[in-house]
Amino acid sequence: MSLQEWEWGQRPRLSSYTLSNVRGLPQAAALGEDRLAEMDVVAHVLPFKANNYVVENLIDWSRPEADPMFVLTFPQRGMLSEANYAEMAAALETRDKKHIDETANAIRLRLNPHPAGQMELNVPRLADGTMLHGMQHKYRETCLFFPSQSQTCHAYCSFCFRWPQFVGMDGLKFAMRESEQLVQYLREHPEVTDVLFTGGDPMIMRAGVFATYVNALLEARIPTLRTIRIGTKALSYWPYKFLTDEDAGDMLDLFGRVTQAGVHLAIMAHFNHVTEMRTRACAEAIARVRATGAQIRTQSPLLAHINDDGDMWAAMWTEQVRRGCVPYYMFVVRDTGAQHYFGVPLVRAHGIFTQAYRQVSGLARTVRGPSMSATPGKVAVDGIVDVAGRRAMALRFLQGRDPAWVGRPFYAEYDEAASWLDGLRPLGGGEFFFEARLREMRAAR
Ligand SMILES: *Cc1c(COP(=O)(O)O)cnc(C)c1O
Repeated sequence: MSLQEWEWGQRPRLSSYTLSNVRGLPQAAALGEDRLAEMDVVAHVLPFKANNYVVENLIDWSRPEADPMFVLTFPQRGMLSEANYAEMAAALETRDKKHIDETANAIRLRLNPHPAGQMELNVPRLADGTMLHGMQHKYRETCLFFPSQSQTCHAYCSFCFRWPQFVGMDGLKFAMRESEQLVQYLREHPEVTDVLFTGGDPMIMRAGVFATYVNALLEARIPTLRTIRIGTKALSYWPYKFLTDEDAGDMLDLFGRVTQAGVHLAIMAHFNHVTEMRTRACAEAIARVRATGAQIRTQSPLLAHINDDGDMWAAMWTEQVRRGCVPYYMFVVRDTGAQHYFGVPLVRAHGIFTQAYRQVSGLARTVRGPSMSATPGKVAVDGIVDVAGRRAMALRFLQGRDPAWVGRPFYAEYDEAASWLDGLRPLGGGEFFFEARLREMRAAR
C-alpha cells in the first residue's frame, strides 16, 4: 500500500467529505461514474461522511472495491435491499426534494432505527419525573450519556445508524444544563459507578466543551462515581485530536485531571480493522492518551465485507496489546440499518471469534464475544455443544437488564442461519428463562 504518512511537525487540518464534494476527490476518479451514482442513491438513505485522514491514510485506492476500509467508509449498493434501492433511485430521478426526503425517511423507518428497546426501556428519569432523553440507563452500574455536542462523528462507519439528531444548539449553555442533570441523576443513583460518554463521538467536541461536562462531574465529587468512559473512534479516524489539533494539549490535560482526581478514565476505542492501528499517527495518539493515565479498551462489531476474518482479529488484538490497549468486546452487528449486508450468522461469528482467540496471547483474551446487545442484555455465544445428544448453542449474559441474569448459561437449538437472539429457539422448546421477567419489565414502563 502506498499510503500517506503523517510526519512530525505536520499539522493536518480536518476536511470532511460529504456526497457533494466526494466527486472532487482525486481518488474518486478510480471509482467510475456508475459506482459514484450508486453511492449517491445509498447515501440518500444511510448517512455518509469521510475525512481526509481516512481517505488519505487508511484506504488503499489501488483496489478500493476489495479494501475493507473503503467498504467501511463509503456506501455500497448492497447496503440497501434491491427493492429499497430501486425505490430510492426512482425518487432521485424526480428531482423533487420533498419526495426524495420522504422516500428516504420511509425507507429508514423500515430499517429498525431504534433497536434493542432503546427508546422505550432505557430512558431514565429524575426523582421529580423529568425524562432524561440524553441518557440511557440499561445496566445497573453504567449509565450512557449522550452530550448534545457530540451527536456526530468525524466520519461515519457505513454500518452505523446513530447519527446526528440535532445540531446548531447553543453549545456551552446546553452542556451546563445537561451536566447538571447528569450529576443530579448520579446523586440519586449511587449504584451507577460508570458514566459512559457516547454519541456520535464525544471526541468531536472541542476540549473546552468536553471540559464543561467533565468538570461538572469532578467538581460534584460524587463518591460513587468510579469511572468515566469515553466511547470514541478518534484514535482510528482522527488521531490528530490527540496530536496536532489546536485543542490536543488541552484534551490530554483534561484526561490527566480526571485520572489525578482518582477517577478511572476508560477510553472505549472503536477499531474495526488492524489497518487503522498501523499508522504512525495512531500509534503516537495511543501513546499520548495512555501517558495521561487513561486506559484504552477496544471494541468492534464483526462485519461481513470488512473484518469477517479470524486471522485479522488475531492480528488486531495482538497489535492492541502491544500498544498497551486491552481488547474488550467483539460485537455481533445489530439488527438495524444494513444488517443484511454486514451481518454474520452467530455460528459463523463464534467460529471467527474462536479462530482468533486461540492464536493470541492470554493478554489478549480479555476480549469477550461474539456478543449481541439485545433487548434483555449483552448475550455472548459461548460455544456449540452437545446437550444429551442434541446439538445446541451455549449462550451467556455478559450484561443483563436484570443483574441476576449475568453469567447464567442457557441453551438454544443449533441454528446456522440465526444472526440475532430473537432468531434463536430455546433448546427443548418453551421460552428462554429471562422472557417472563422481561415482559414484566416492559409492562412496568
Ligand atoms: C455495553 C453497554 C454498556 C456497558 O457495558 P459493560 O459490559 O460494562 O461494558 C452500558 N450500557 C449499554 C446500553 C450498553 O450496551
